[in-house]
Amino acid sequence: MKNTIKISTIKLMAPPCPQCSQHGEMVRKLTVRSLLNPELKNKVLDIAYYLCMSSDCEVSYYSNIPNEIFTTKDVKVPIWYKKDAQPKYACYCNKITDEEVITAVKETGLTDTQEIIKFLREKVKCACVAMNPSGQCCTPLFPEAIEIGLQQIQEE
Ligand SMILES: [Zn+2]
Repeated sequence: MKNTIKISTIKLMAPPCPQCSQHGEMVRKLTVRSLLNPELKNKVLDIAYYLCMSSDCEVSYYSNIPNEIFTTKDVKVPIWYKKDAQPKYACYCNKITDEEVITAVKETGLTDTQEIIKFLREKVKCACVAMNPSGQCCTPLFPEAIEIGLQQIQEE
């Protein structure tokens, strides 16, 4: 496992995280507001926010303004690539964990993300902007879990 991962192909010019000095990813204010614990919502200023991508860093969202930062404890859901994230969500919209994806792949042999989601959930939701800490679709855990599931089928 790498320490940092890129979640978008377009690398936006994100400043380094004030805590770990790694460059994060730009996120929408709507995402920050939706993901923070409700009592913190009005602490979100009208400025740009970034998501710290380091697994070891306790910062979640940060900005260019010193002290205008939030930690992983301020976020409603575990951020999948942070160490100690439990459970690890492959899909935040439908609350599907990496474990569930691995099991589904082993049971069905499905390898398509959308088909796996449909297999696991009766009602499929898509609200990434408001539910995934990165504001983007299913996390990179999804393809990783499919890989693991397929490997386990072969080993059996
Ligand atoms: Zn950081």
